[in-house]
Amino acid sequence: MTGKIEVLSPVDGTVLATVPSERPEAVAAIVRELREQQREWEAIGPAARAGWLRKLREWLLAERDRIADVLQSESGKPRAEAEIELPFVAEAISYFARHAMEFLADERVRPSGLLSTPKRMMRIHRPFPVVGVISPWNFPLLIPGADAITALLAGAAVLLKPSEVTPLTALELQRGWQEIGAPAVFAVVTGTGETGAAVVENVDYVQFTGSTHTGQAIAHRCVDRMIPYSLELGGKDPAIVLADADLDRAVRGIAWGALLNSGQACISVERVYVEAPVYDRFVTNLVDYIAGLRQGDDTMHYSVDIGAMATPAQRAIAQRHIDEAVAAGATALIGGGDAGGPFLAPTVLVDVDESMTCLREETFGPTIPIVKVADAAEAIRRANQSVYGLSASVWTRDPARGAQIARALEVGAVNINDTVTNLFEMGLPHGGWKRSGSGARLGGAAGLHKYTRQQAVTAPRIRPLPWEPLWYPYGPRKARVVRRLLAAVATTGSASMWRLPARTART
Ligand code: NDP
Repeated sequence: MTGKIEVLSPVDGTVLATVPSERPEAVAAIVRELREQQREWEAIGPAARAGWLRKLREWLLAERDRIADVLQSESGKPRAEAEIELPFVAEAISYFARHAMEFLADERVRPSGLLSTPKRMMRIHRPFPVVGVISPWNFPLLIPGADAITALLAGAAVLLKPSEVTPLTALELQRGWQEIGAPAVFAVVTGTGETGAAVVENVDYVQFTGSTHTGQAIAHRCVDRMIPYSLELGGKDPAIVLADADLDRAVRGIAWGALLNSGQACISVERVYVEAPVYDRFVTNLVDYIAGLRQGDDTMHYSVDIGAMATPAQRAIAQRHIDEAVAAGATALIGGGDAGGPFLAPTVLVDVDESMTCLREETFGPTIPIVKVADAAEAIRRANQSVYGLSASVWTRDPARGAQIARALEVGAVNINDTVTNLFEMGLPHGGWKRSGSGARLGGAAGLHKYTRQQAVTAPRIRPLPWEPLWYPYGPRKARVVRRLLAAVATTGSASMWRLPARTART
């Protein structure tokens, strides 16, 4: 029997809605239906699909206030942050719809050698029939929206399984798809991890965003099923502040990068390495700056900077990292934890080292642990020590040094004198290295190609003979001709290796 999930307001715990927790059989049935519908969706081609996505964009823009209400109610974000996500998805639609024809066009392949010279050859991008998008609670529209629209444009049908914490925004996306009258190739299935696992069991490709732990379990299952996957996982992003940095900008940028969504972002700044000559000034200025930020619940008033923690469980993890650091000798220069109800105060930690969870594990909370380093080399070494490799930032007035440090960091993205910005560029990939993931989202043509299988198609250029030189029957005379032909084809090695041994040649 289908269970139920109560969706709670993170701010006051009231029940916002009740949604079904779908059973595996129901998920399998939805996937079967999507698979049926997908054939026609692929057949209409990228231009027609782009047309439907543009209609969805218009619908989203018309509904932006209502969607921000829903998103804010289930996530506890400040209003300003609740309103960022929809324009991002709208822009993703604009960009990928504009380029879909070009990115998905059949590609003519030129002959690489003699054997294929008489052939016409094409590389064709054919979609995976059904893509399962499994998403977390921290960006309830941006993440599933970006993943779903690119998969749909590529020609796949999409089954979205949002987090059980924030399913209501995803249901808005489904409402939009239905209200514009689009083909039934997009569905949302609500539920727990069990529902997510059923998605993995039935779809043809898994696009997962969430914790490294769950991502690994999903990858194992995908390998068993021999289906491809893309995993966008956790992070522990370092910021490196060099002595020549514009400290005002570094303070503001790092505060925003660390505290955005109460630090509940995969690309949050979670560690800061500061060169010794500016360490004291940076720390003092950062603490002063954070003291001026406002925290609370601001439905529709744009009156706070930092909102609530999305769940009591996440709040407890962040609090534990703070408490463990302090117990081990760290100092909280501001914050330290409880700010009443679901709020966790922004916390600057100093006297920290990598033996502490706050510097080693993903905190996903409003903490900023800061480490003094002798030089950039030490900062790079410590930044790379993490098992994660999502993104990083470097703060310096010297662009050449910034670029040089970027190349030394083992992460999927580096923003120089900024944080998060790579995520706003549709032409750049967003993906993690090491335990932060496998694959990437967005990134120009690759953002659509990932949801397709390459198909090679060859056909004779001219009316063919009834036989080909490589076909049966084999025999010594033919072998000589074929060997000569292959010698001509070979671009490496000497032609003599293709000569038949004398004995064979005589028979
Ligand atoms: P989880 O891994 O707990 O859950 C992510 C999604 O997977 C949810 O929809 C969840 O459902 C579902 N799920 C849980 N178990 C299974 C399973 N066995 N099979 C299939 N699906 C399952 O992550 P969180 O929701 O807690 O999100 C926070 C994490 O996401 C952080 O680690 C963060 O760094 C990462 N993240 C990564 C991003 C990136 O782009 N790299 C971006 C944003 C977040 P349910 O909610 O019902 O349990």
